[in-house]
Amino acid sequence: MGRRGPHGTDIWKLLMWEQQWYREFERIAFGYVSGMTVPPPPIRGLKLKSPWTVKQLRVLQRRQNLWNALIRARTARQVRVVCKRWGKLIPKDLAFFPQRLEEDASDFFAMKKDKAFPRARYSNEARVTFLARGMAGAMLGLRYTTSIGLLRKMKHGVKCECWRCDRDRREAESEAHFQGAFLMEQELKSLKKEKTR
Ligand SMILES: [Zn+2]
Repeated sequence: MGRRGPHGTDIWKLLMWEQQWYREFERIAFGYVSGMTVPPPPIRGLKLKSPWTVKQLRVLQRRQNLWNALIRARTARQVRVVCKRWGKLIPKDLAFFPQRLEEDASDFFAMKKDKAFPRARYSNEARVTFLARGMAGAMLGLRYTTSIGLLRKMKHGVKCECWRCDRDRREAESEAHFQGAFLMEQELKSLKKEKTR
């Protein structure tokens, strides 16, 4: 089973953990998990009617505050404090993630201090990826630099079955579906206009 990379690391096991950590970090960084049916939060300035309730928005804000605190933590001890807050905010069956991060707070803090850690204000997704890859390595007893390197250098062919390629394909499909529906709607509108002329 599974392709083996350098040093006998099972890249599929690493990918599995990357996906798990990515999902949990994504949940607090963005407030939702991609592929979920909950609509993305409203964008400030856009006057679209928000499908989010006030209560949902409050939860979203709390999650994002947590992520910001995690990213801004200045010591491993602060990371641990945030992990405790994180644990209280989520269902019991997800408690594994903040607990594990609390245990690995020093490694996590080292990742954040690494010069390769994405620091630009808008690099939230890159930060989620970096930290998820690092934590995936920790799960298999690898140094974070090793697991980040292995996952970054992985070759993704057209038929790659990894979770990222799978997600990207599904996203592209729904985008095409959405565009198709939009074009159809436009066409129907122009048909109606022709009729009323
Ligand atoms: Zn892939």
